[in-house]
Amino acid sequence: MAEERQQLISSAQDMERLGAKFAAEIRIGQGLIVYLKGDLGAGKTTFSRGLLHGFGHQGAVKSPTYTLVESYKQLHHFDLYRLADPEELEYIGVRDYFLDDSICLIEWPEKGRGFLPPADVVLQIQYQGSARLVLFEVGSERGERLVQAVLEKYN
Ligand code: ADP
Ligand code: MG
Repeated sequence: MAEERQQLISSAQDMERLGAKFAAEIRIGQGLIVYLKGDLGAGKTTFSRGLLHGFGHQGAVKSPTYTLVESYKQLHHFDLYRLADPEELEYIGVRDYFLDDSICLIEWPEKGRGFLPPADVVLQIQYQGSARLVLFEVGSERGERLVQAVLEKYN
């Protein structure tokens, strides 16, 4: 992982807006793997909700805490918090989700170590009182272009 950038996000609404900015820059049909790291309540699901709404999803965005994954056409939203063993991912047929053109948002990727494709972008969300500091790491050219485009237009 090369360069690191960061953005202070002062409210939940702004976290959704950040997700929507990502949605605006993501090409459907091109695969993308996003890891979402941070403690419980950091805002991983809030970011994902903004991204999904940015893609035009109208309905509710449930936290897939118990189901492990919720799919919205070719976009898959994972929450691996309750995964006891990364190997369980094999049993739920996780390979079927990681296709070349899938967009995957993965909360708690640490829990799936060894069974996940590498990330194009990693968001590490840290508490700063009621605000959050989001650190962006990139793992590919595609991830680099995406983060650059999002942050250019952020302010
Ligand atoms: P996670 O998925 O990381 O466990 P959630 O997105 O489910 O976290 O929850 C984040 C909670 O924190 C929500 O209740 C949200 O309204 C609140 N919140 C307060 N300030 C912020 C902020 N700056 N960014 C994101 N969420 C915030
Ligand atoms: Mg969550």
